[in-house]
Amino acid sequence: MSGSISIIGIGPGTLEWMAPGSAQALDRADVILGYHSYLQQIASLRPDIPREGSGMRHEVERAQRAIELAGKGKRVAVVSGGDAGIYGMAGLIFEILGGFPDGHLIQVEVLPGITALTAAAALLGAPLMTDFAAISLSDYLIPLDTILNRLDAAIRGDFVICLYNPRSHQRTKPFDCACKKLLDLCGENRPVGVVQAAFRAGQQVYCTVLKDLPCLQIGMDCILVVGNTSTRILNGKMVTSRGYRINCKEQAKSEL
Ligand code: SAH
Repeated sequence: MSGSISIIGIGPGTLEWMAPGSAQALDRADVILGYHSYLQQIASLRPDIPREGSGMRHEVERAQRAIELAGKGKRVAVVSGGDAGIYGMAGLIFEILGGFPDGHLIQVEVLPGITALTAAAALLGAPLMTDFAAISLSDYLIPLDTILNRLDAAIRGDFVICLYNPRSHQRTKPFDCACKKLLDLCGENRPVGVVQAAFRAGQQVYCTVLKDLPCLQIGMDCILVVGNTSTRILNGKMVTSRGYRINCKEQAKSEL
């Protein structure tokens, strides 16, 4: 008999931001697989269930192991940070399973989580009120030219742009190229929000403009939200206008 795989998004940080349904799915697991720091994030949940941790860039091995264990009848939980379907483990597991003739015998479910962009948007104010694009600046799997072409298209389409995986110690070039393109095409006063470690210890949130972006402080625990032409900073919050016709001065006068 074949087992099952639950692919679980555990949210951006502390456990209160993980969906209750995801915690219930963990309860049903015989074994939990994940990247070490995500297992750390859920360390206090069901410590009695065995865990198998693995490092970054071991996603293929992790997915293969999940399939192997499920093939032996185990109920396997695979955890991913944020939402498992957004730069997470979900796609890889389906892709590998698709190569097995008996792949359909293993039941797979994906449980959604709060992804970094919604976590960041909530902390920044309301920057995603209109169309937006998510772009990962990691050139580990996608060539830099492709990333920059997508960024170019998103800027020209006047999308609000969320930048995942912005910059690491070893990988600074994509971020430098992206900043140059943003400055060239959006201008130096375009609002940008930076959220570091959302809903985790050490959380930092700031709204600034492109020319003042503190580039050296940007790391892999940050997500950036670059506003579009309708984004402003109002009372310290980043707000993208959706187009409602409002007249704040008239409103204030009538309330006096
Ligand atoms: N599946 C995850 C994304 C994984 S890619 C999700 O849905 O959120 C990893 C990138 O996500 C990080 O480099 C960072 O850009 C972003 N990220 C994830 N969690 C974050 C957090 N708590 N605060 C800020 N950015 C975060």
